[in-house]
Amino acid sequence: MLSSDVRRLERENMELKEKIEVLKTEISAKMEKPQACKYCKYFQQHYGLIDGIYLKINAGHCVRGRIKDRKPDATCEYFETR
Ligand code: SF4
Repeated sequence: MLSSDVRRLERENMELKEKIEVLKTEISAKMEKPQACKYCKYFQQHYGLIDGIYLKINAGHCVRGRIKDRKPDATCEYFETR
């Protein structure tokens, strides 16, 4: 009686561990950010002073190699996640 309960619990435990691994994989796939400049470690966001508040504007620059103007949604082959 006790050993069958233990076996059932072990089986349940194995099934739950498998489900956790599947969920981890799904979550990490959803959390991946697109390879856009705004997520790149070389991107420097530009801000504008609007009504006394600094807000992100649709501009920035890349500091990899030489400085060049970039839009936050642009990308290139040298992308590296922050
Ligand atoms: S141009 Fe390339 S290296 Fe520069 S910020 Fe964008 S993705 Fe990163």
